[in-house]
This record gives sequence, structure tokens and C-alpha cells, in this order.
Amino acid sequence: MIRLFALLIVICGWYLTPVGEAEPHFPEEIRIGLGVNQKTIELVLPEAGEIISDQGKHLVLEAGCHRLRWESGGIYLGKLRLAANRLHVLSRNAGSFLGYRNRLYRGSFQVLRTKAGLTLVNLLGLEEYLLGVVPWEMPAGWAPEALKTQAVAARTYTIGRMGVHSAEGFDLCAGTHCQVYGGASAEHETTNRAVAETRGEVMLFDNKPITAVYHSASGGYTEDSANVWGWISPYLQGVPDQDRSPYVSWEKEISWSEFIGKILRKYPELKYVRAVEPTAYGVSGRISRLRLDGGAVTLEITGEQFRHLFGLRSTLFALIFEGEAGRLLYRPGETLPRFLPWQEEEPAFGVDPAFPEEGLFRLKPENFRVERVRIVGSGWGHGVGLSQWGSKAQAEEGKTYRDILGYYYKEIRIQSMYVL
Ligand SMILES: [Zn+2]
Repeated sequence: MIRLFALLIVICGWYLTPVGEAEPHFPEEIRIGLGVNQKTIELVLPEAGEIISDQGKHLVLEAGCHRLRWESGGIYLGKLRLAANRLHVLSRNAGSFLGYRNRLYRGSFQVLRTKAGLTLVNLLGLEEYLLGVVPWEMPAGWAPEALKTQAVAARTYTIGRMGVHSAEGFDLCAGTHCQVYGGASAEHETTNRAVAETRGEVMLFDNKPITAVYHSASGGYTEDSANVWGWISPYLQGVPDQDRSPYVSWEKEISWSEFIGKILRKYPELKYVRAVEPTAYGVSGRISRLRLDGGAVTLEITGEQFRHLFGLRSTLFALIFEGEAGRLLYRPGETLPRFLPWQEEEPAFGVDPAFPEEGLFRLKPENFRVERVRIVGSGWGHGVGLSQWGSKAQAEEGKTYRDILGYYYKEIRIQSMYVL
């Protein structure tokens, strides 16, 4: 009955699609890679299960632990060859879970034999998958409307990432590379409710699912996608945001020698580092581009590249070069440094509208030598799209999840993909 209903939706959807417009692909089932190229895979069955091999063989599995083994000629359980290249593991009780690495999962498992090992894939419904995603991406104790924004963002993001791992035999991986998924073991009542109450809802722009990127904390202003990744999006535009997160202020200190060592290991073509200068900023004050001045060779890198190189929480920071005589300071939004002797106080973090101003700008002394680099920043994540901490703040003020999503993603439409 359910299958027939799904088929009707598919057929109706097809008729409703205007001629000449590609129909977005909304999967009902999803394949999540839990382990790739393992020599053995240990499965735990809380209840009796069943294996169906690619040759159509059925085998009943007792409840308990079963170790599957890769061999060049097939997939083995002890001395028994179960399948040539793939097999399916199901619980005999439809409501039961399957276990792997101390976690329980809904749906079923598929084991694929590759040249290098076994790949374990969790097959399950998209909505069931989200139950194991939302609590990893947002604390389950947060306001219900914030949890709903996360559910819709995660669902839309998933649709956009479908097939990223298709060469490996699944859609998304279970780690931060795609979206962290903890299976049924991660589920919470509150996050399950957020998924159920937004069932099927995705964000659309121009009738297509949006690239629903999100981040933890904005540092007070989100950023245009163009200033972070170089591609323009009509709906990923920076907006003022509240940041009451624990990451609203952070600091990192590194010696000059360690600083240039890191840069030279990553960019050996420079051979030498004379200076590092921010050259472009985004609307939020995030560093968009930096110049690495090596004297003979000069390189331009993005703020994100710099952030990953130094393991920084965000690209919204002040860059401070400290030496014996004082410090050379680039505050967010400033491409001209100001020199401050030690006896002068450091201005507060944030964009200073009065700068650059005659008199404020001061050249560094001739013999200024940098000893340390201090990076004083705000926020966590790339800063594009939904800010999770901002969403929490808005939800606590009584905004609905639809209001909040509409704030972070411009001119989008929220609609259930099951009625499209
Ligand atoms: Zn991935």
C-alpha cells in the first residue's frame, strides 16, 4: 500500500513538472557509508537476522556478533563464502536495529566488496536518517523551533549532497565530510519531534533545493558565499546575527618561526615569508583573501585556506604581529595595518568605521621584528547560511522555524518534497 502511494506521488509529481524543467531528485531512501575498505566488519544483531547474497542465497543469522571477512574471492563468514561482491543484512523483526561499532542503526545494511576491503552501507529512509543527524548537529535541549530549522537545513543539505560518494557505492558518508550521522543511538525525543513536525520539508529557490550550508556561530554577522568560496548565491547573503555562543571570542597565539614554518610547509614555492597581509574582506569583516609575501614570490590564498592551515575557528579575526617595540594590527575589515607601541591600548575587536583615518594610521618602526602572531577571532565555522547559535537566539525570542530560515536564506520557499 505504501509503495503504491509512493508510486502515485512520483507519477503525479511527473505530471505536475512543467515541460522542459528538470525535476529535482528527492530520494525516499538513502545510502550512508559507515565504513570503507575494512578487512573485517563486525556486525551485532540484537535479534535474529537474515543475509541475502548477490547470488540470491538466504542465510539466517542468530542474534549476536558476526564478523564478516574480505577475501579476494568473496565475502566470508568464518569459512563460509557468503557472496561474491555484495550482500544485504536485515533484521527479521522489522522494528529491530542492527549494530556496528557500538552504535545501533535503523534500516538495513549492505556490505560491498571492493578491491581493497569491505564497505558497510546503511540503507534507510531519508526521514529515519535525519533522526540520527539532527542531534549531532544541534544539542537536543535547544528550543524546539531551533531544532526544526536544523531538521529542514539538514534535510535540504542532504538532498544537495546526494551521490557525492556514488563511486564508493553510497550517497553520503557518516562523518563531518558530509554530515555527522550517529544512527539510532544518537536519537533524542526532542530532535525526533523536530524531524517529524517538518517531515519532508525542504528549502527551494527557483524551484530547486538550495545548497543549505550552515555553521555553528557567526561572530555577529554571517557572510556571502562569494566571499568565502568564490561562488555567488542569491540566497546565501550575509546578515547581522546574534552571537551569544561560547565562541564569540577566541584567541590563538603562535611564534613567528612556527607561523612561517607552517606556511612554507604548505607553500614551499615561497621559500621565504616576509609578510602576511589581508587584502580583501567580506561583508562581515571576515578575511576573504590574504597575500603571502615571500619577496621574490608572492601568493594569494583565501581566508578559508588560511583558517584550515592554522586550525582557526573562523575567518573573522584580527591579525596581530607582535614584536619588542609594539604590535602591528589588522582589525577585521582593515587592509592597512596600524602600529601600536606597547604602552597604547589595543582597540576593541570589531570593525571600526572611523578607520582608516588620518593620524590613526602609523607606520611600523624601521627595525620592527615580529616575534609572535596573535589571532583574535569570533565565531565558529565558515559563516555562510544558517547560524545555529543565532537560530537558537531567535527561537528563544519566539520566532518560528520558518521565520528563522527565511532570515538566513534569502527569498527561499519551504515546501514538503512529498507534495511537490
Ligand atoms: Zn562524505
